Order: sequence, then C-alpha cells, then structure tokens
Amino acid sequence: MEQVNENLEIAKRGHVNSLTHDELELYEKVKNIYAERVHVGCTSCNYCMPCPKGVDIPLNLSLLNDVYMYKNLEKPTGNYKFLKGKRMSAGYCNQCGDCEKNAPKTLK
Ligand code: SF4
Repeated sequence: MEQVNENLEIAKRGHVNSLTHDELELYEKVKNIYAERVHVGCTSCNYCMPCPKGVDIPLNLSLLNDVYMYKNLEKPTGNYKFLKGKRMSAGYCNQCGDCEKNAPKTLK
C-alpha cells in the first residue's frame, strides 16, 4: 500500500511534456541501447505457436534475447536446460517452417 501511495503522489506531479530536454535525450539514448541489444524482435504474441514438435518458441527467443541483453549466459543457460528437460527447447526443432509462416515478424 505504501508503494501505491508513493506512485500516486509521483503521478500527481507528472504531466504532459514534463520531461526536460536532457531527460528526453537520456531516454532516447537508453532506449536505443536496449533496442540494439535485442537480437530477435519477438513480442511473445504467440502467433508462431503451436509448434508441432512442442518447442516453446517465444520462450526460447526470450532466453536468446536475454543472452544478448545482459551479456550473461548463466541464467539463460539454466532456463534453457529446464526447457530441454521438458522437450520444449529449440534443440527439438526439425525446421518444418510452420512458425515462420505464421509469425507476423521475421524469426531469423
Ligand atoms: S520450424 Fe517447425 S519445429 Fe521448428 S520451431 Fe518452428 S514450428 Fe517448431
């Protein structure tokens, strides 16, 4: 509740065009850094699913993006092993191409 009240107080002070030029510049800079690190532009819309081989495509792509975003293999590797144990990892893909036909974005 304390956090909700704090957020409400902050929201009361915010208004349209309240960011300074420097703040907007910083926002753009940070946004571009994140955008450059995204490896696959997957939004987890799930239109590529279901995969006939059981691959959880959005989750595999999310793990791949985590590797590039955080430049850290440890956590994504652990999660990938979990997916592999559930037979949902990209390693089970037989490249049938169904997901690429159904996805609104390119998955390559
Ligand atoms: S190519 Fe086929 S088997 Fe591979 S992830 Fe896409 S739908 Fe699944």
